[in-house]
Amino acid sequence: MEGVVRFENTVSGTRKTSATGRWIESTNPYTGEVWAEVPHCGAEDAVEAIEAAHAAFVKGPWAKMTATNRGKLLRRLGDLIARDAEKLATIETRDNGKLFAEMHGQLRYIPEWFYYFGGLADKIEGGVLPIDKPNLFAYTKREALGVVVCITPWNSPLLLLTWKLAPALAAGNTIVIKPSEFTSCSTLALMELVAEAGFPEGVVNTVTGYGNEIGATLVEHPMVAKIAFTGGDATGAHIYSAAAKSLKHVTLELGGKSPNIVFADANIDDAVKGAISGIFAASGQTCIAGSRLLVQKSIYEDFSKKVVDFARTARLGDPMEGTTQVGPVTTLPQRRKILDYIEVAKGEGARCLLGGAVPDEPALGKGWFVQPTIFGDVSNKMRIAREEVFGPILSIIPFEDDEEAVEIANDTIYGLASGVWTSNIQRAFNMADNIRAGTVWVNTYRAVSFMAPFGGYKMSGIGRESGQAAIDEYLQTKTVWINLADGVANPFILR
Ligand code: NAD
Repeated sequence: MEGVVRFENTVSGTRKTSATGRWIESTNPYTGEVWAEVPHCGAEDAVEAIEAAHAAFVKGPWAKMTATNRGKLLRRLGDLIARDAEKLATIETRDNGKLFAEMHGQLRYIPEWFYYFGGLADKIEGGVLPIDKPNLFAYTKREALGVVVCITPWNSPLLLLTWKLAPALAAGNTIVIKPSEFTSCSTLALMELVAEAGFPEGVVNTVTGYGNEIGATLVEHPMVAKIAFTGGDATGAHIYSAAAKSLKHVTLELGGKSPNIVFADANIDDAVKGAISGIFAASGQTCIAGSRLLVQKSIYEDFSKKVVDFARTARLGDPMEGTTQVGPVTTLPQRRKILDYIEVAKGEGARCLLGGAVPDEPALGKGWFVQPTIFGDVSNKMRIAREEVFGPILSIIPFEDDEEAVEIANDTIYGLASGVWTSNIQRAFNMADNIRAGTVWVNTYRAVSFMAPFGGYKMSGIGRESGQAAIDEYLQTKTVWINLADGVANPFILR
């Protein structure tokens, strides 16, 4: 096809297509046109990538490299990503339709993870144990797990990969990446920088394809030590049980139905912007979307109107344009799912205050848009308040007091994130204590950092990414005992 860019995988430092010889098309959600292709890999390709990663783990320069030099490689990779941030962000926007401004912001921030975890690489320490037995010396070592398979979704491909890649590499593991079939291109482009940074062959490998075709091989292969996954909760649960067969380590970052709670004492203008950014940024396609807006009854009508008026002004358009505020959604199946949920909400009796359809604007061309949509009078029992939509759909739910706010906030299978808008410091601390979620934002929303642990309570996941402890997710502890005296005591009993 003319003008279509082909990206290839990297396995053992070599560019690879696929054993099947087939390709997966990547469609630009704004133009509706195929702009790139990536290899359509099968199980054979997945095994090759795993074997390459395993070989690099057990022998070769990576296995012998000092932690300090590993750290230097990570920092160099960070520098190269910073250099190519614009190019990589452009690829991501073409692949997933999210605003270039957002993807570029992410790409410019991603190097910080490589600097931070690069700095931690040679601070992974064991300890000498003050052991309570005569003539024995014991110490611990922290060691890499082995081959880590990173499986990523389509919404923020390189950011969510980085959250896995940086700590996993800093800890000394080797990697196989399986990006989303919808948005593989930026990951394959990143591999050029991995090579340029000087990572030895086989340390980072990629395999592109469909989860239902190569997922089982990646998750169950005996040479794989750990799966680090971000994606939907059903996929996460499936991977968890498949990985359990061979007792692999697993980190799961899954979905959410996050409450964004506005009290009457909040700074109302800030809270309106917080509600908007919580749901319409990235067209609602973020796991942390504040899709349940809980508003105190005394300000409910007024506040809802302000949010609707603000959302009505959102400029839909070309995600590459700096003036665009809401882009298309990433895939056609995703748009279908979002539109189905709009019908479900209407059927359940939620009041549609804004949007509720595909925009009828010729200027938007063939883009896969959904109008920013707001439902009022939502009960937390409705499906629209319980199931993750992953689109620009906001449900506004009234509450009476702090107690009811906590009750509604926690009445969900998820527990990824939450927001609280209040000017009362005691209320802020109380809410932070009582909300069962991995992140609580007070008077802000959507802040993340390489320093701040991120992850879910309940069905939102297992394990944490970012922050110092994230490196522990990629390490295991070895205890070494040394006999300082000759002679073995009674061999038939535990010493
Ligand atoms: P998804 O679960 O459909 O796919 C995620 C990845 O898993 C893709 O690479 C896919 O190919 C792969 N996959 C699918 N089936 C598999 C299988 N059987 N075995 C192995 N791999 C398989 O998710 P998605 O639609 O790409 O992403 C959206 C979801 O991701 C949302 O539910 C969202 O909440 C979640 N998400 C979570 C976070 C977080 O950090 N908690 C961040 C972003 C997105």
